[in-house]
Formats: sequence, C-alpha cells, structure tokens
Amino acid sequence: MIITMNATANGAEISRIIKHLKAKNYTPRTSVNGCIRVAALGKGEAIDWDMLRRTDGVAKIEPPEQPYILASWQMKPERSIVKVRHVEIGGAAAVVMAGPCSVESREQVLSTARAVKKSGAVILRGGAYKPRTSPYEFQGLGVDGLKLLREAGDATGLPVITEVLSEDDVEIVAEYADMFQIGARNMQNFSLLRKIGKMRTPVLLKRGAAATVKEWLCAAEYILAGGNESVVLCERGIKTFDNSLRNTLDLAAVALVKELSHLPVIVDPSHACGKRSLISVLSKAALAVGADGVIVEVHPTPEKALSDAAQQLDFNEFGAMMRDLRIAPNGTPVRL
Ligand code: PEP
Ligand code: MN
Repeated sequence: MIITMNATANGAEISRIIKHLKAKNYTPRTSVNGCIRVAALGKGEAIDWDMLRRTDGVAKIEPPEQPYILASWQMKPERSIVKVRHVEIGGAAAVVMAGPCSVESREQVLSTARAVKKSGAVILRGGAYKPRTSPYEFQGLGVDGLKLLREAGDATGLPVITEVLSEDDVEIVAEYADMFQIGARNMQNFSLLRKIGKMRTPVLLKRGAAATVKEWLCAAEYILAGGNESVVLCERGIKTFDNSLRNTLDLAAVALVKELSHLPVIVDPSHACGKRSLISVLSKAALAVGADGVIVEVHPTPEKALSDAAQQLDFNEFGAMMRDLRIAPNGTPVRL
C-alpha cells in the first residue's frame, strides 16, 4: 500500500504510521514531495487499512498500481536526479558518458579520457571486467583496469563508470568507481541487484537484451528496495527477429519508461546498433525522445580495439558527434 500523508502532517503522526507498519512486519519507505508518502513494502501481517485511513495525518491509502512501487510516479511524483560526484543525471542538461569498451592500457584510457572531455563528455566509461560471449575473448584487465580507469578519471576530473560483473567484485569496484554499471546480461541477477541495493554508489542499470520494460523496472526496484536510490536506467537495444544490426534500439521504451517512472533514462547507441556510422544519429534520436543522456564507446584506434571494434568512435568522430548533438531536431541548440 502507499500511504499519502496530509501536507500538514506532523512528525509524530508520520512516526506513528511508520511504527505501526514495522510492528506488522512491513518495510516502510518514504518519499517527500510537498507531502510525505509511505510505502508499506513486503508481505506483512493483515492491517486494518480502513482504520489506518482514519488516523490523524493520513490523506489517502491506495494499493500500488505497478509491481515496481518505489520506481513509480505514484510513490514519488517528482523526477529523480542522480548525482555522480558533481554530475547530475536527469536534470536540465543531457549527460554524455564516453570512453573505451574495455580499458586496455594506461595510454589508451588516458588519451581517450582527455579527448572525450575536450569534446564535452562529463563521465568516463571503461570496462575492466568484461562480459564476453566467448571465454577465449579478452576478458578485461580486472583490478589493474580499475586502477587505470581511476587514474584517467582523476587526471581529467571526470567521474568514472565501470561494469561490476559479479557479487564478489562489488567492494573492489566501489573502491575505484564513481558509478556501477550493471550490464544487460546481469539485469536479472537478483543476488547482485540486492547487493548493489545495499551500496550507496550510483548505478547504471542496463536493460536486458530480452527484458520487457516491466522486468527492467522491477530489476531497478530490487536496487531501490535495498535503499540505494541512485538508479539510472539505460536502454541498450534488445534482441528481435531483425539481425541487420547488433540489436534493435527500442526508443519507444525510453519514452514509455519516462511515463512510468521518475528515474532518469539514458541510451547506449553503441551496443544497440554495433555500427560506428549510426552512433551519432541514434544519439540525436535518443535525446529527441527524452533520454537524459547517452553512453558512447570511444577508442583511439577503434579498428585495433580488443572488444567491440566495429562500434567504437575515434576521437574525431566523437568530436563531430558532439557538435552535431548540440543541434536538436527542431534546429535549436541543446544544452549538453
Ligand atoms: C558494455 O557497456 O561494455 C557492455 C558490455 O554493455 P551491455 O551490458 O549493454 O552489453
Ligand atoms: Mn562494448
């Protein structure tokens, strides 16, 4: 149930409700936007909701409309802004995250960090633990990769994001990264989601390649339910009958998620299409449907990249994309 308190409800009235929910074995969660809302999470004991409805300070009590309660507008009728150090995701400015698919060497990640920063990226990406289809492909540099990414972030002042593949790596990744990435393959790794929910590092939750929008939002709910409120969603393409491109970029899902949830949403055109020549135009399309930003793969020499060579942009291509992105479809400049 979602309990909305009167705008004038006082602290004692709110505490009484929370105490009652706890006594009945529910987990209470609050959100504040004008008035306080309290979600009664979990399967607690029977409650006389009509009696509670008549309690001082309570305005209304309604059942949740969706299985993802904390991610819904019903619980929090205010857009969430996720802060990654000084960068705000979901605010007025679109955010561009960029960097190599995999961290390969100091020179590679440092030169990329400098180049993407110069062109206007505000967060540096780079994989140290890589989810590769074949076990014989490059698996990432692990902790050494995390250290190099951190060094490049510190050298340029860019916060860094990197994928955490396994529960065992959560602490070490948190030590070096400013934002976790949960990859498409792990979107429904519920024990990993629960562990990330206990952390306070912001999270980018990619959509699984075969996940519905509801499954994606329920995955976000696992993290929110654990108490980590800094969740950003990322559409990265889904598997469909059409194999002309690596995946099918589902831009309608981006617009839909904006209707269903207060969480920020960004788009990863690189993994969505897998094709360098389409990254710029798909980024523009993403912002046009309301995405809060994009995450794009950039490499000093894409053709020599150890992973995802076909989709990474070189520095010039990224610079051109950023210039192009500043022009919205209606011809007005976009604040990146
Ligand atoms: C990545 O960003 O490097 C990656 C592997 O992405 P995804 O999980 O979307 O495939
Ligand atoms: Mn990649």
